[in-house]
Amino acid sequence: MSVLTDLIYTGSNAVAGLTEGAVNDAIARYGADQSISFGDTAYFLPTIYAATGVKVKTLGDLTACITVLKSLISNKEELGEALNAGLATAVGAEILEALKYVEDAEPYANETGIGFVGDPVIRSLGVPLVTGDIPGVAVIVGKAENPADAVKIVKDYQSKGIMSFLVGDIIDQVIDGGVKTGLELRVIPLGHDVTAVTHVVTVAIRAALIFGGVEPGNLAALLEYTKQRVPAFVNTFGPLNEVVVSAGAGAIALGFPVLTDIDLAENQVPGALESMTDHAEIVKKSLELRNIKIKVTEIPIPVAFAAAFEGEIIRRNDMHAEMSSHKNTTCEVVMMRQKDDIEDRRFTLEGPDIDGEGVVELPLACVVEVAGDKMQEDFESVIERKIHTWYNYMEGVMHTGQRNQFRIRVSKDAYEAGLRLKDFMEVLYDMIMNDFDTVVDKCQITFYTDKEKAAKILETVAMPKYNARDERLESLSDETVDEFYTCILCQSFAPAHCCVVTPERLGLCGAVSWLDAKATKELDPAGPCQIISKEGCLDEVKGIYPDADRMINEATHGALEHVTLYSLLEDPMTSCGCFECICGIMPEANGVVICNREFKGMTPTGMTFGELASMTGGGVQTPGFMGHGRHFISSKKFIKAEGGIERIVWMPKELKEDVAPRLNKTAKEMFGIDNFTDMICDETIASDSEAVLEFLTAKGHPALSMPEIM
Ligand code: SF4
Ligand code: ZN
Repeated sequence: MSVLTDLIYTGSNAVAGLTEGAVNDAIARYGADQSISFGDTAYFLPTIYAATGVKVKTLGDLTACITVLKSLISNKEELGEALNAGLATAVGAEILEALKYVEDAEPYANETGIGFVGDPVIRSLGVPLVTGDIPGVAVIVGKAENPADAVKIVKDYQSKGIMSFLVGDIIDQVIDGGVKTGLELRVIPLGHDVTAVTHVVTVAIRAALIFGGVEPGNLAALLEYTKQRVPAFVNTFGPLNEVVVSAGAGAIALGFPVLTDIDLAENQVPGALESMTDHAEIVKKSLELRNIKIKVTEIPIPVAFAAAFEGEIIRRNDMHAEMSSHKNTTCEVVMMRQKDDIEDRRFTLEGPDIDGEGVVELPLACVVEVAGDKMQEDFESVIERKIHTWYNYMEGVMHTGQRNQFRIRVSKDAYEAGLRLKDFMEVLYDMIMNDFDTVVDKCQITFYTDKEKAAKILETVAMPKYNARDERLESLSDETVDEFYTCILCQSFAPAHCCVVTPERLGLCGAVSWLDAKATKELDPAGPCQIISKEGCLDEVKGIYPDADRMINEATHGALEHVTLYSLLEDPMTSCGCFECICGIMPEANGVVICNREFKGMTPTGMTFGELASMTGGGVQTPGFMGHGRHFISSKKFIKAEGGIERIVWMPKELKEDVAPRLNKTAKEMFGIDNFTDMICDETIASDSEAVLEFLTAKGHPALSMPEIM
């Protein structure tokens, strides 16, 4: 037997033995009926569920899994067989980790690792992964001989937007090296035990179930999905023991190449298992192995510029300067101009820069003027909304809010590195020319930090612009425009999904409005957003358009034939998986429940967000369940076919309060109801079906007297 297969089998058999012992011990201690679960997931023990279709709910259910696990270990001298043994190790690791959650509801509370990653987090990663904002996922295991190398590698991945999941002592090496960790910073410590690697494996596996519509139990489809669509790879540091090797074999079976810093000599498997002893080459080699291309935007400013800094928080004590609407005039506005009226790349600062001792507080009116043959006024707001993202890409800069309500903080470190306001202009200019070059030919930027001048700009330039835009948005409806758009951005994860984006129904991710789709079509004519003609509408209430059917059929390669824009029960729009909210029918209340991704509790349907969400997704139509954006809730088109917003009977309080102003306005306009949200139940009032009904009855909720919903 080769050294490699030998190591894999030794590891797999060891893990199998360990798992069997641990399961038997747990059953002896807690009984076979003891429930077992990772918590925030609708997919049971995800690896076992996806690979076999078995829904493990109790310790007793694990006994059969051990048999399956052992059957994967054939001990035959053949690499393919040995990789299956690697899958057995993955299953074993999952069981061992799940058992930790039986012992203790929060086994990772005292660990510098986050352990299990909940379904909502995976859903929230959908958009950044499809847009390439997160170009890949690194799984880093072990302990580097020289901690500084590990720090450098992780930072390099971070600067490229790659998410790093850390397992083992490398966690402490990276943290001691000053790297800040957390999901939003894309450096995520999982745990110190090798088995913690399961927490990233199940992320990949659940992506197949959530976005890919892979049927649980279809192992071949699962492996195909992870191999083709999950851009993950593994790096190991330090000596390899047999357990790490067999876990690595599991990764290879899932299609994730493994790069190790140990010299494996003739035991390498090209493309799947390779050695790189030179730490300076690991990042490059890993990206090559997974064929990940990084778009670099080199911007000549004194601090780093990368998507990974987007989530960075700058606290008061670390702050050098603040431009905040709480204290001073602020506004940021993008305006279309005639080409001859502006000078390309002209940067002007009217007023002081952020130089000075102590905390510098300034007003800031930021005026970006753009011109181009293909520029349209409708694209102004699309560009303007990106300012927030671009500023946050600067290391040491935090931006919140938009328009005339924002706050910018500049850290002491960034200031000391030399960051000044002209660098903000550089960022705006470079990114506009990078991302919007199809429509912008010239761009001129002026910042006003002088108190009087800033106030004047706000009053005479920015406010009139915002008001005009709001009026335009008000007037935009599905009736007033000539065309809708498809969006297939999510197809890299959900190959059978296509969104239909209309003025009143934004993409279910909440990130693509009709204006965004229109701009995308202009920027990238053959790209993800294509025009749907409104001609020949067959049903205005349900929203049935022949061209929507035609386009969706084409976009999903025949997977879907009919779609309605406004019905929940008849050919509802499909979901990819990254929806902000899910709406599900509550028959006994003759209405619908809406739940947002952030809500962790139980809904009156007896299902959590994750469980509701698992009812749909992967481009499959499930009448009665539909993913959608937050903004859609207050739309006059929201489940119009079923009677509209009057059907909403329950929402989490936070969501209800967020949408209340607009939802109440729509309810008043459409149905003459005052303060409609007061009639909608939430978790602080009741979450069990009976009590919800009592509340609705007491409030005289309109859904109760509407025609039967089904
Ligand atoms: Fe994905 Fe739909 Fe959003 Fe496009 S609009 S990014 S397809 S969820
Ligand atoms: Zn999506």
